[in-house]
Amino acid sequence: MKRILPSFALVILAMTLLLALASCDKGPGDAPSLINTTPEETTTPAPETTTEPPHEHSYTEVVTPPTCTEGGYTTYTCSCGDTYVDNQTDPLGHDWGEWKTTVAATCTAVGTETRSCSRGDATETREIPLAAHNYVDTVIPPGRTTQGYTKHVCSVCGDSYNDNYTNPTGSVGLDFTVNPDDTITITGIGTCTDEDIIIYSTYYVDSQGNSKVVSGIAANAFRDNTNIKTISIPASVTSIGDGAFAGCTKLTAFTVESENKNYSTVGGVLMSKDGSTIVAYPAGLNLTTYTVSASITTISPSAFAGCTNLTAFEVAAGNARFTAVDGVLYDSDKTTLIAYPAGKTATTFTVPNTVEKIGDYAFFRTAKLAEIILPDRTYKSDGVTVDVPGISSIGSYAFYGCAELKKITIPNVTTSVNTYAFANCTKLDEVNIGSGLKTISTHCFEGCTAIQYLVIPETVEVIDDYAFYNCTNMTTLVLRSGVKKINYKAFTNCLNKGTDSNGKNIARVYFEGAASKWNSSDISIDASNWMYLTMYADLYFYSETDPGSGNYWRFVDGVATPYR
Ligand SMILES: [Zn+2]
Ligand SMILES: [Zn+2]
Ligand SMILES: [Zn+2]
Repeated sequence: MKRILPSFALVILAMTLLLALASCDKGPGDAPSLINTTPEETTTPAPETTTEPPHEHSYTEVVTPPTCTEGGYTTYTCSCGDTYVDNQTDPLGHDWGEWKTTVAATCTAVGTETRSCSRGDATETREIPLAAHNYVDTVIPPGRTTQGYTKHVCSVCGDSYNDNYTNPTGSVGLDFTVNPDDTITITGIGTCTDEDIIIYSTYYVDSQGNSKVVSGIAANAFRDNTNIKTISIPASVTSIGDGAFAGCTKLTAFTVESENKNYSTVGGVLMSKDGSTIVAYPAGLNLTTYTVSASITTISPSAFAGCTNLTAFEVAAGNARFTAVDGVLYDSDKTTLIAYPAGKTATTFTVPNTVEKIGDYAFFRTAKLAEIILPDRTYKSDGVTVDVPGISSIGSYAFYGCAELKKITIPNVTTSVNTYAFANCTKLDEVNIGSGLKTISTHCFEGCTAIQYLVIPETVEVIDDYAFYNCTNMTTLVLRSGVKKINYKAFTNCLNKGTDSNGKNIARVYFEGAASKWNSSDISIDASNWMYLTMYADLYFYSETDPGSGNYWRFVDGVATPYR
């Protein structure tokens, strides 16, 4: 009973509702009814009743506002139970706030950040990528042979890397000049004390790390340096001047960067890239004989300058450019003497009669020679045809620093003696200047400290800068009548020999002319010489006969002699 009764009651209720619906007019519009009706039912006229008036729907509105995720709408409900919805609106979407870091990222771990909807219905979280490393930079300066660089180390995780590499410094303190193209040429040892000179293509020109490309090594740059043992030449060097390594007696090897387009080495000897030119032989190499190979076509003038271990040159068979006689190197027709082996032990040497030219550096720092005889021009019996051409020119540095050389006679046929030709021959005490020379070149006899008596022949017109600079023992200087110019420091530090017991200057200058000529514009004497010629020395003027008083002189048996 208890189970059947409610079922029965529900059936009654449902039938009552169906009756009510069937008699209800449809609501406004096409709004869907909560109760399904068929089109037949909506079009089928309701059965006429006469007992009840038709029902008019009267809806009440309930607005359901939108949320972040659900749309809003209005629900219309009639007391009859009819209901529908309308005024639907879109969901609002979340109103996100700012992302806020919850776990900060580091360089080793990702972080997280979250944000929330202002309407409190949602929160989202996302990953913060790995943070950048916190690098601390340290600049490691270049070393002599090591690159410099910047080291970056992360202070958090220790991660590191290097960059900004800089070239090794190589040797530092070398002297240089800046060329018009902003490259530099190395000009000297400067303050560098390295025994092994390393020059890189870029050279640090200051302590701020500024560098320039090294394009050359100047003439005489390292001349007479007795400290250097090796020298490394970079790829960038395209020119090396004469004498750059002359007299570097400890130098045993050159090295040249393989990329260098102009130079190479063979057995430590500096050569042209193609091996056809000997540029410089390291003077410290412990060989006594050097053989010029058949393929050599050019030998730089200073290639063997000051190589005091060498006692002889040989020339390989098949070399048509050069010849060696008694160990001395000449060109093939023996008109130019190219190099005398600086270690050859003979004390005298007579230059062969074929020779017309003494090459630059030919006898540079020859160790043993005390006397060198240079042939002068001679004629056959007809007086016209030349028998011996004689030496017409003597190259620069040709006899520079010949330690034992005591006497030199410059032939009358010689018209050119170049700069430094006899400089620093410290035992040279007899200098005979031939009549062919009009100019004593710059530095020609500089530092010849043994010269006491010097005659400038009448054919000489110009005594150029530093010609006899630092000839500190010069006591008597005879200036014959041809002299017109005595240039800068030509006699500086000469003739300063003090005074004798009578208070007279020991040094004397014999001028082959009168005081009026000495003081005229016929002669130009640079002021740098003045005190050496006229204060430290007593100046004598020339007179054929004794004027009776004053400083006058004449020749007696070819020797300048004062009257009193
Ligand atoms: Zn209704
Ligand atoms: Zn929300
Ligand atoms: Zn890190």
